[in-house]
Amino acid sequence: MLRQRTIQKSISTKGVGLHSGLRVEITLRPAQPNTGIVFHRIDLPEVVDFPAQASRVGDTRMASVLQQGNVRVSTVEHLMSALAGLGIDNLHVDLTAEEVPIMDGSAGTFVYLLRSAGLQEQDAVKQFLRVLKTVEVREGEGKDQKWARLEPYDGFALSFAIDFRHPAIDSTANFAEIDFATDSYVKTIARARTFGFVNEVEALRAAGLARGGSLDNAIVMDEFRVLNSDGLRYDDEFVKHKILDAIGDLYLIGKPLVARYVACKSGHSLNNQLARALLAQEDAWELITYESSAAAPKAFTNEWKLA
Ligand SMILES: [Zn+2]
Repeated sequence: MLRQRTIQKSISTKGVGLHSGLRVEITLRPAQPNTGIVFHRIDLPEVVDFPAQASRVGDTRMASVLQQGNVRVSTVEHLMSALAGLGIDNLHVDLTAEEVPIMDGSAGTFVYLLRSAGLQEQDAVKQFLRVLKTVEVREGEGKDQKWARLEPYDGFALSFAIDFRHPAIDSTANFAEIDFATDSYVKTIARARTFGFVNEVEALRAAGLARGGSLDNAIVMDEFRVLNSDGLRYDDEFVKHKILDAIGDLYLIGKPLVARYVACKSGHSLNNQLARALLAQEDAWELITYESSAAAPKAFTNEWKLA
């Protein structure tokens, strides 16, 4: 059978929050079977726990934020994406501030940390959530309409279209399609960085966002071009990062999806609405397990080898 996974040992690193600008230490710790992914704010007088669940996402402006009363854990999506990409079911995540560190703006550092800690198969069967009926959410009108949907598919695939009407982005591919039956998360998606625009920085900082953002942790553009001296990591890094985000946002469903995700101009808000809409429609999905690797779609066996 396909089994649940955690990591072999605890591992820590330090960084800065993209939006808060706060210094933060993050520790990833092994967790028992059926724990799921749980964030812990260990800087407060009493530890506050945040199960990584779509229903607990409050704020979705520029990041996915888990909320517990007035206490929060911000920008969980890149770590969640790395966990989905490596097939990790159970993990404790300790934080010393309100935001997951942005590291280099991609999921690459988290992949490296998790692999350094070593992946551990557990004595418990892994559950997947298989989509049985198409579920779709939309926002806006006409040309500005954004939408995202999940449809039945025997594996895990994503396709994404962006339209930023910006010369630096328009000169790259504005559409990408990934199927993990053949594409590697680590090679194709994990290193795609978040991005932002210089002319939006002031307004964002006034709103308490992007305070830790820099050329070290984001692709930064002025009105015309990319300002990072090294350029892009992938030819289509922008749309690849939107796929990276979607993988992380969707992993807040709590189980790996057996589905195809198709989206146009979606973001954290719409991804969260999609996750909630799916979970609310109980005849649109079922939980399943796989008796053997041979019985499972390739998407769940190709890359999830033990490091
Ligand atoms: Zn992102």
